[in-house]
Amino acid sequence: MKNKINNYDFLIVGAGLIGAIAALALTQKKFKVLVIDKDNKLNKDNRTLAVNANSIDFLKKLGIWNLLKSPPQPIDKIVIKDDINTKPLIFENDDETMGNVILNKEIYEIARLKLKNLKILKIDNSINVSEIHPNKNICINKHNYYFKKIIISIGKSVLSDISHKNIILNEKHYSYVGFFKHEKNHNNMAYEFFTNQGPLAVLPAPADHKKKSTFIYSSKETINVTQLQRLIFNKVVKSHGKLIFDKSLSKFPITPHLTKNNSRFIYIGDSLKSIHPVAGQGWNLGIKDIQTLCNLLDQYPLDTENINSLYYSRRFLESAIYLSFTSVLNFLYESKNTFSKKIIKLGFTGLGKIKLARDIFIKQAMGRINLID
Ligand SMILES: Cc1cc2nc3c(=O)[nH]c(=O)nc-3n(C[C@H](O)[C@H](O)[C@H](O)COP(=O)(O)OP(=O)(O)OC[C@H]3O[C@@H](n4cnc5c(N)ncnc54)[C@H](O)[C@@H]3O)c2cc1C
Repeated sequence: MKNKINNYDFLIVGAGLIGAIAALALTQKKFKVLVIDKDNKLNKDNRTLAVNANSIDFLKKLGIWNLLKSPPQPIDKIVIKDDINTKPLIFENDDETMGNVILNKEIYEIARLKLKNLKILKIDNSINVSEIHPNKNICINKHNYYFKKIIISIGKSVLSDISHKNIILNEKHYSYVGFFKHEKNHNNMAYEFFTNQGPLAVLPAPADHKKKSTFIYSSKETINVTQLQRLIFNKVVKSHGKLIFDKSLSKFPITPHLTKNNSRFIYIGDSLKSIHPVAGQGWNLGIKDIQTLCNLLDQYPLDTENINSLYYSRRFLESAIYLSFTSVLNFLYESKNTFSKKIIKLGFTGLGKIKLARDIFIKQAMGRINLID
């Protein structure tokens, strides 16, 4: 082992969709950052991300947005339907597009390439998080390092490591994700159907035409490919025409959780919280984690003792609200009793009739409202 100590401002553990972007943002602010990840496998994640207006601005500032290869698909209108209410809820925004749909793997590849070019990424490194501390020696690849702050960005792996204490809402849901081509244009419209078994989202998919969409269906119940395709067909045949499904179908476990404060680390992305994908906001909230951290670093010197706790207190409220909102929404639709149906009807009617409530809802989903900052 070499004796020289390498001094850094930040160690980021996990260079996934959020850790890699956090590293670029902190480097842009002139901090000295090292990122490690346990693997180097090319990201095979064939999901899409509904990126809200706030996150798009952020990706533009980092020089990532303009490098996307597949044309992002704008979302100009969101239509929400269920089996309880006769009229759909429609969300639209006049001043700017609500968001765009992009491919996970493209963001991942661009961000990782930038980190490689900056020579700040070390891959094939899995660290035992329980043994690392800020401001203490850490040995990586036989080199000694000293980091002022440690950011944990290992996604949901925090749940399998006892160093991190979590509140877990074990919903035992799975999301099924796939793509289909269709006869009619999607017209930049996104759909959310609340079915008896779980929510089904249908979004425009990145392509150089308007005849490809992606679906995300989440449920506790198992479903086979034929049943799923039939469900999607029944919901969208009127709006999309004939459908041709891609062969590949991916399945992801859903584990909504919130990590408790631990003054040793700064948690971001799915390591801080993961929420049910019904809202399409998990990654967008991760971008807000990074923005909050960057704002704090504009206000306080890095070695401020309670900066980790300050950060946690600023991200706790929004994380907890989204976690509860998405979980309660699923619970209400799943419980199928009269009381739940009444609450759902009340919410639908309120949002349908009160424009102000609808506008606040839309601006929040677009990331244009900051609860605390
Ligand atoms: C079906 C589905 C659809 C979704 N759609 C949307 C959407 O439309 N919009 C949206 O905003 N969000 C969406 N999300 C949420 C979004 O995908 C996640 O919030 C986001 O991917 C989290 O990124 P992350 O970087 O925190 O975690 P990850 O991307 O999981 O990255 C974790 C990284 O840490 C590394 N790692 C793990 N353990 C270690 C270790 N011990 N040492 C070193 N490295 C380690 C891993 O190799 C990985 O690279 C969706 C989620 C699902 C399940």
